[in-house]
Amino acid sequence: RLSKRLSTVADFIPEGAKLADIGSDHAYLPCHVVRAGKVPFAIAGEVVEGPFQSARKQVEMEGLTKQIEVRKGNGLEVIGKGEVECITIAGMGGALIASILEEGKEKLEGVKRIVLQPNISAISIRLWLLENGWSLINEAILEEDGKIYEILVAERGNSESVYSENIENQLLFGPFLSKEKNEAFIQKWTAEWNNWERILKQMSQSSQIEKKTEIQKKISMVKEVLGQ
Ligand code: SAM
Repeated sequence: RLSKRLSTVADFIPEGAKLADIGSDHAYLPCHVVRAGKVPFAIAGEVVEGPFQSARKQVEMEGLTKQIEVRKGNGLEVIGKGEVECITIAGMGGALIASILEEGKEKLEGVKRIVLQPNISAISIRLWLLENGWSLINEAILEEDGKIYEILVAERGNSESVYSENIENQLLFGPFLSKEKNEAFIQKWTAEWNNWERILKQMSQSSQIEKKTEIQKKISMVKEVLGQ
């Protein structure tokens, strides 16, 4: 069975779209959506030999070699122009995901939707999308095995209407997530808040005014979003 995290990513893949899953590791996600008949063809991209071999083995074991091609390469370089309509990138840091998108920009030409699951720093992705003509169309946040995961879904277009007010807050917390404020969202930002308070306490003797001010600002942002 697919994890709750990856099955939520899978939920955002459009029915019938050709898919590239970048940093696929065991290729669980493409195997799942192809097996389910949701996707007719998928590329599983991996840059590291070990995970690349795991992906190949999994695809062979599931008898899906006709529909899933496992390709070795860095980021989007494994995709041919116009070959896929949807790209998923899950389980990495937001800054790494944003750099993969930035480096592979020209491969995004025929792509209609990207589904991203950063482990940290979703803000890096929201910024990249905003600056590169991709509009955030949905977000999800969930808890699994004590960890909180965010999922960002984007399509071409501009995000101006999405980020209508207080853009700084919305880039940090997510425009959809901060509107919904579900249990996982509250849990994540309460934990971050506690962490910033702890750091601030440790810095009480310190003269790093700028750093302190920055943390204080984040604390007041989190208080506002949590309605505290
Ligand atoms: N996507 C799977 C998931 O969410 O369960 C696997 C996540 S795993 C933690 C991250 C994978 O991304 C690793 O297997 C790593 O080798 C791969 N990776 C990291 N940077 C990459 C890049 N630039 N191009 C392709 N794969 C990359």
